[in-house]
Amino acid sequence: MKPFEYTRLSKDDLATGTIPIDSTFLAGGTNLVDLMKYGVEEPNSIADVGELPYNQIEESASGLMLGALVTNADTAYHPTVKNKYPLLNKAILSAASAQLRNRATNGGNLLQRTRCYYFYDTAMPCNKREPGSGCAAVNGFNRIHAILGTSASCIATHPSDMCVALAALEAKVHVLRKGDSLVIPFDQLHRLPGNQPEKDHNLLPGDLITHIELPEEGFSGNFEYLKIRDRESYAFALVSVAACLKLSEGRIEDIRVALGGVAHKPWKLKEVEQEYIGKAASPELFQSLAEKLTRGAQGFGTNDFKIPLVKRAIVRALTNALNPA
Ligand SMILES: Cc1cc2nc3c(=O)[nH]c(=O)nc-3n(C[C@H](O)[C@H](O)[C@H](O)COP(=O)(O)OP(=O)(O)OC[C@H]3O[C@@H](n4cnc5c(N)ncnc54)[C@H](O)[C@@H]3O)c2cc1C
Ligand code: SF4
Repeated sequence: MKPFEYTRLSKDDLATGTIPIDSTFLAGGTNLVDLMKYGVEEPNSIADVGELPYNQIEESASGLMLGALVTNADTAYHPTVKNKYPLLNKAILSAASAQLRNRATNGGNLLQRTRCYYFYDTAMPCNKREPGSGCAAVNGFNRIHAILGTSASCIATHPSDMCVALAALEAKVHVLRKGDSLVIPFDQLHRLPGNQPEKDHNLLPGDLITHIELPEEGFSGNFEYLKIRDRESYAFALVSVAACLKLSEGRIEDIRVALGGVAHKPWKLKEVEQEYIGKAASPELFQSLAEKLTRGAQGFGTNDFKIPLVKRAIVRALTNALNPA
């Protein structure tokens, strides 16, 4: 591992506005430290955020504020998350292992990097790791790669389960930028690869995630998080679906569907969801939504199977949400 400078940030740094813009933030380290060991990321300077005061979960006027430094485990098992946002509880608990969830933080989960094998292998070309070097996955082994929103430069997926649930819930991300607070709607946090796949998200250097805000509506009555993977535990999603319904006498008052494992960001199309408001919920209707949500899907060989798989997963997740166990 390349030598680096280490600083631990404190409350005083927040008060004096001296958050460095040229350091890489370290939270739980479960992704960053691996990337540094493999030589994929070689920061000159690390700023440890572990002692900053963003380690609480608090009720707010609009819903619930999750501190960026709260662990994934403490978030999933928080009583309000379990009762009011069970979709988020289920998505987090489907991820990684108990040990990792005890260490991984909410902020780090949002900004964890893709699991594309070529990104981690510094002997292979990868536009995300080394812009302009090419993409080994497009014509390579791409079983875990994206089918929606891809570009010729990159077909990587975003690996997080938590983010798929947060996209469906339409959470907001609170960020500290040069001493000012800003709030980013969840669908504007991550980006599609386009011709700049090295950029995973729309944050600027030095932007610190402080909180994730959950809205009042938690869809606790009719929800499902369905994760399809090669192994039943300790594996990333091949495809995943976060589905939420609000119903009135069998008709849809609100519907949210976000997909994981299929794109560079959680995939959600508000305009498609809107078309189904007021309609009678049924598996046939969900089939039509699945077609529209995945319109334009393109496989790259080894991942062609994801196209029919994700459509079936959408119908199953929504059907399970309609008929809770
Ligand atoms: C073996 C293994 C299996 C896994 N399986 C799954 C899985 O199935 N599903 C899943 O969703 N995840 C999975 N994960 C990923 C895991 O959830 C992430 O590694 C973890 O959430 C990252 O959090 P962290 O606090 O350790 O982040 P770190 O590794 O410390 O940081 C990750 C990134 O976020 C940035 N960062 C951290 N905090 C902030 C902040 N507050 N503001 C701005 N930037 C910040 C860092 O600079 C870094 O770029 C797995 C990980 C491993 C190692
Ligand atoms: S898919 Fe993206 S991350 Fe993977 S090799 Fe291609 S450019 Fe790199």
